[in-house]
Amino acid sequence: MSDQMYIKDTDQVYDAIVVGSGLSGGWAAKEFCERGLKTLMIERGRVIEHRKDYIGEGVPPWEMPMRGKVDNILLEQRYRIQKQCYAFNDATKHFFGNDRDLPYTTKDDTTFSWIRANQLGGKSLLWHRQSYRLSDHDFAANSLDGHGNDWPVRYADLEKWYGHVERHAGISGAKEGLEQLPDSEFLPPFEMSKPELDIKAAIEKAFPDRKMIMGRMAHLTQPTQLHIDQGRVQCQARNECQKGCSFGAYFSTQSSTLPAAAATGNLHIAPNSVVHSLIYDEQSKRVKGVRIIDNDTLAEREYYGKVVFLCASTLGSTQIMLNSKSKAFPDGIANSSGVLGHYLMDHNYNAGASGDVPGYEDEYYQGRRPGGIIIPNFQFEPKRGKKNYLRGYALSGGAYREGWQQNATNKGFGAEFKQQVTQAGKWRFGLHAQGEMLPRFENTVKLHSTLKDKWGIPQLEINCRWSDNELDMMKDAADTADETLKIAGVENVHSYVTQGPPGLAIHELGTARMGHDPKDSVLNKFNQTHDINNLFVTDGASFSSSAVQNPSLTFMALTARAVDYAVSEMQQGRI
Ligand SMILES: Cc1cc2nc3c(=O)[nH]c(=O)nc-3n(C[C@H](O)[C@H](O)[C@H](O)COP(=O)(O)OP(=O)(O)OC[C@H]3O[C@@H](n4cnc5c(N)ncnc54)[C@H](O)[C@@H]3O)c2cc1C
Ligand code: SF4
Repeated sequence: MSDQMYIKDTDQVYDAIVVGSGLSGGWAAKEFCERGLKTLMIERGRVIEHRKDYIGEGVPPWEMPMRGKVDNILLEQRYRIQKQCYAFNDATKHFFGNDRDLPYTTKDDTTFSWIRANQLGGKSLLWHRQSYRLSDHDFAANSLDGHGNDWPVRYADLEKWYGHVERHAGISGAKEGLEQLPDSEFLPPFEMSKPELDIKAAIEKAFPDRKMIMGRMAHLTQPTQLHIDQGRVQCQARNECQKGCSFGAYFSTQSSTLPAAAATGNLHIAPNSVVHSLIYDEQSKRVKGVRIIDNDTLAEREYYGKVVFLCASTLGSTQIMLNSKSKAFPDGIANSSGVLGHYLMDHNYNAGASGDVPGYEDEYYQGRRPGGIIIPNFQFEPKRGKKNYLRGYALSGGAYREGWQQNATNKGFGAEFKQQVTQAGKWRFGLHAQGEMLPRFENTVKLHSTLKDKWGIPQLEINCRWSDNELDMMKDAADTADETLKIAGVENVHSYVTQGPPGLAIHELGTARMGHDPKDSVLNKFNQTHDINNLFVTDGASFSSSAVQNPSLTFMALTARAVDYAVSEMQQGRI
C-alpha cells in the first residue's frame, strides 16, 4: 500500500467519508472508490499492512515463550475483557483492543463483554469467517410475532447484493436449497469427515427437518480469476487464520476490499484518528464532516465530506452518534425517534452437547479444516417446533479426533511424549447453539454522565441482559443437542447450559435500527438516517432483529447496496 495513501492534515472536502475499516468500512470504501468518488477512510487504530504486520503468523505454540498463553500481568492490565474471546492468545493478542484504553461500564448487575479490534482492518482480521444469508423468514420475524419493528427490507432487496459481495469475497459452501438459509454464490465446500457424513445421515433420517450441512465460510477453496487478481491464493486448510493469513485465503479488509479500493487511486486513509463526533450544519441540515482526536497526540482535527458512512462497528457507530449533539439533536444525531441506543442484541451461545464417537479408528483427516458443520435453524416459523419461547437457534459443531493437537501446547520430552504426539485419540463430536435474541427496548447503550476515555469521549454505559425467552431457548437447545447426538449414535453425551454474558458471540446488533417509520427507527431501508440525507449507518447497528445467522455477510451486502443508493442520490442532487 503506498505511503501517500495515508494522510493526517488536509483541507480537502472528500466525496465520501467512511468511518471504520472493518468488514463494513472496507466495503463502503471499495464501492465508493470504484464509482470514482474521492474517499477518506478514517480509522482510530494503527495501520496493519497485509502480510508484513501478521507477526504471529507461522509461529507454532512450542516456539512461543509460554506456548500461546499470555503473561498474567499483561492479561490483568490490558486484556481483562478481551481474554474472554476464544480466539485470544499470544499470537493474536495484538489484534485485540486494549481494555485499559477502552473503558466502558455496565449498568447495575448486568454484564456485557465488548470485544474490540481497533486497527486498520478491525475485526475482519479476527473473525471466524462464517458467512450466511438471511432469509425472508428472518426479515419477517418481527412483524409476525410483534417483537420488534418490521425490517423495511426483504430478501429480494438484498439478493443481488449478497451475490455481489460473495463473488468478490469468496464464500465456500454447498447449494442445499433450504428455505430458511438461502444459498450463496459458492466456491466448493470443505469436506465432511467420515464420522460427520454418517452422523449427518443418521440425524436427517430421524429428523427430516434437521439438515446437517457444511459450514459456509469466507475461504478461497478454489480461487477465481477475480481473487487471483486481488493477490489471493487457495486456502491451505491450516486453521491459523486469526494470526493473519499471507495467502489472503480468507476474506478480510486487508486481503480483499482495501487493495481493490486502493487500486482506484481514489482512497485516502486517516489512521490513528479517533472519531469524537460528527459536525452537523444546522443551516443546511447536513453532516459536514467529522471531528477527530489524534490517537497519539490527542490533538483535534476535522475532516470534511459530502456524505458520511458510519461503519465503526455496532457500538462504535452508536457511540459516535450519541456523542454528536446539536441544537437540532440534543440526544444524539439523527435521533428524533429517541430509539438510538436501544434494542441492543447479540446471539446466545450458552448451550450445547458433546460426546464420543465409537469406531472410525482407521479414519483421520488431512490438514486442519478451518470450520465445522451447522444444523440451520429448523424452527424458522412460529408453527415449527414444540417450544415455550419465540424464534429459534442453529447448532454448529463438528467431529474431531483427540490426539497430538492437544499436545501442541503441553510440555514434554522422551519416548512416551513422542508416542503421544504421534497417536490420534478417539473421535468426538459436539454441537453448540447459536440462538436468536429478541430486540427489546430496555437493552440499551447510552453515554455515561461523567466517565470519559483518554480521548475525552464519554464512555458507553451498557445495560443488556438475556430475557426469559433466551434462557428458555438455551434449555431447549441443550436438550435438542443431547437428543440429536444420541440418535446419531454418539456415546457418553454430556449436555450443558452455561451463563455467559451477552457480547461474547461478538455479534453486537441493533441500537440504530432500520424501519419504515421515522418515529420508531433511526434508518430507512437504504441505511440512510431518516433525519439527515447524507448520513448512513451500515454496520450491525442497523439490524432490526438478530436472526440466528452470523451477521457480517449481511453487513457487507447492506453496505454495498447503501453505497449504490447514496451515489445515485448524489448524482441526482438529492444528497
Ligand atoms: C473471534 C471473532 C470471531 C467472529 N466470527 C464471526 C463469524 O464467523 N461470522 C460473522 O459473521 N461474524 C463474526 N465475527 C464478528 C465480525 O467480526 C463482526 O461482525 C464484523 O467484523 C463487524 O464489522 P464492522 O465493520 O461493523 O466492525 P469492525 O470489523 O469491528 O470494524 C470497525 C472499525 O471501526 C473502527 N472504529 C471504531 N470506533 C471508531 C471511532 N470512534 N473512530 C474511528 N474508527 C473507529 C475500529 O477501530 C474498527 O477498525 C467474529 C468476531 C470475532 C472477534
Ligand atoms: S486455513 Fe486458509 S485462510 Fe486460514 S490461515 Fe490457513 S490458508 Fe489462511
